[in-house]
Amino acid sequence: MRELKGSCVCRAVEYTVPDAMKYAGCCHCSECRRFSGSAFSAFGGVPMQALRVTRGEQSLSRYAKSEHTVLVFCRHCGSSLYAEKPLRSMIHLRLGSLLDAPSLRPQFHSFVASKAPWYDIDDGLPQFEQGRPAPSSS
Ligand SMILES: [Zn+2]
Ligand SMILES: [Zn+2]
Repeated sequence: MRELKGSCVCRAVEYTVPDAMKYAGCCHCSECRRFSGSAFSAFGGVPMQALRVTRGEQSLSRYAKSEHTVLVFCRHCGSSLYAEKPLRSMIHLRLGSLLDAPSLRPQFHSFVASKAPWYDIDDGLPQFEQGRPAPSSS
């Protein structure tokens, strides 16, 4: 299995993950927009045990924004790296933190009802007003 590498901006944290995402999408919810500081968060779903932090585990900070989602980021540079989904044993990797390109590209847009008014989605991917039906909301 091909491995993908990723890291934060300051490189204190590095990780590897198999190139086998179960799904990938772009979340436009207001919390993803604020946390990422961008129009949306591009994420890919991988089983929790598939992600291996290879450097700087002690540099990770966690913010539990709900029982469904724990945001994980570098405590030195603030880079958003992934979100833990404890109830589903999944991780939503921030695709922007990858150094390598994943085979699976984003397949849909979720929480389009709360997207930034200044951003227009102009690809042909499916759009969901709320979370995608089945396992995917970010
Ligand atoms: Zn960092
Ligand atoms: Zn979101």
